[in-house]
Amino acid sequence: MKPNFTVLKQQLAEIADLKAAAAVLEWDQQTFLPPGAEKGRARQIAALCRHLHRAASAPELGRTIDALEKQPPAPDTVEFALLRAARRHYDRCTRVPETLAEDLSATTAEAYADWLRAREEHDFRILAPRLEKIIELKRQYAALFAPEERLYDALLDDYEPGQTTAELDVVFAELRSRLPGLIDAVIAAQQSGPDFSDRAFPAAAQMAFSRDLVTAMGFDFQHGRLDLTEHPFTTDFGLDDVRITTHIDERDFLSCILSCVHECGHALYSLGIEPELNRTPLADGASLGFHESQSRLWENQVARSAAFWRAFLPHLHRYFPGQLADVSESDFLAAINRVRRSEIRIESDEVTYNCHILLRYDIEKELIHGRVRCADLPELWNEKMREYLHITPVDDTRGVLQDVHWPTGGFGYFPTYTIGNLLAAQLWELVHRELPGLDDRIAAGELQPLREWLRERVHRHGARYLPGELRQRLFGDARLQAGPFLRYLTARYLPEA
Ligand code: ZN
Repeated sequence: MKPNFTVLKQQLAEIADLKAAAAVLEWDQQTFLPPGAEKGRARQIAALCRHLHRAASAPELGRTIDALEKQPPAPDTVEFALLRAARRHYDRCTRVPETLAEDLSATTAEAYADWLRAREEHDFRILAPRLEKIIELKRQYAALFAPEERLYDALLDDYEPGQTTAELDVVFAELRSRLPGLIDAVIAAQQSGPDFSDRAFPAAAQMAFSRDLVTAMGFDFQHGRLDLTEHPFTTDFGLDDVRITTHIDERDFLSCILSCVHECGHALYSLGIEPELNRTPLADGASLGFHESQSRLWENQVARSAAFWRAFLPHLHRYFPGQLADVSESDFLAAINRVRRSEIRIESDEVTYNCHILLRYDIEKELIHGRVRCADLPELWNEKMREYLHITPVDDTRGVLQDVHWPTGGFGYFPTYTIGNLLAAQLWELVHRELPGLDDRIAAGELQPLREWLRERVHRHGARYLPGELRQRLFGDARLQAGPFLRYLTARYLPEA
């Protein structure tokens, strides 16, 4: 039979539907599942994942891909991108021996339990033995895709296709040399402003304001929902149903607002992908870094800007007239842009944040290449924390045990956060060149020019281009750049400099 894209699309659509169905079960597990139903739910998800794995590694799918590759479509067609993505996913799925995949999933499940206990007892040693095993298994996994000297590249590639350690080393070195001095200067220059933690902001009003904000950003409630979870996230069940969640703390209303804006940034990416890519592996962001660039651009560049609050602060005052009665626009901006060194990554502001990633990157690269022993992690962590942020964590829980990524096998994931920050700043420069009056539009509460620009330039392509290809299309240069990000921080936090 002649190779046929209709057949490939059918096979891929089946996989996409199973994935979406599993995502529905997982979303429900995080939002509305009654606590007594957890065991049953875990079984249902596992059953669906077995089907998913069978479909994604089916020999018929491999034969379709093989046959189509004999007469490859022209580059720059959707078919070309689809076939390339299908090959990539199929290889990732079939090249990993079943014993290794099972060993990894069992060990990470056990390590997750160890991690929870280690955090409770503030003792890294509880996690160390299983973390050691995970690192060994990840090395075996990476060795299936790359030679010994490039094992970490293979792990990066899972999240950031085509990204190399060599390129990251260069860009991260620039951040490493510039950030600590910049942080010192920003902290020295910043004005004191109010801290709202002595006031209560009722949950219902926080949620109502957040819904107004994401609506203004263009989140479509006909194709999505906003609900509450312990940890905010975004998920989609295909391109016509994108769910976001947030977390509410009555003493910290900024965290709810900013997390809604962040997750909505992710959601707009999914909602903006060309419908013709739905139910294919291209119905996704170009990479985790590109996805994070969208959430962070909205959260940081937009929702911490003076222009944005010129439009939305009066609205916020209507929801919280008493709590914000004495708060001026400049007080509010000082509060939302407060910079301070924290030992906790997820509590960090945009100026100090990337130091947390540099530290993790330094360490995980060494772990994967076998140059650092697991037992030495707490000490190494604290040493780097002092070097980058002049802080010594009070204990392991607020130090090396703070993130779930390593115990769940997510080596190579952390750099995507910084890649997202760098891309957000680069896009922010570009959009200002192309839409000169953008800040005035934002100050008038009009967010659709920015959203439409992002849709046109980034979102609609989905995963059609590799991250490097998309950067080449956008910026005329495929390389990652630290310059725009450093310029952005300087302009916002040291305007006098
Ligand atoms: Zn995010």
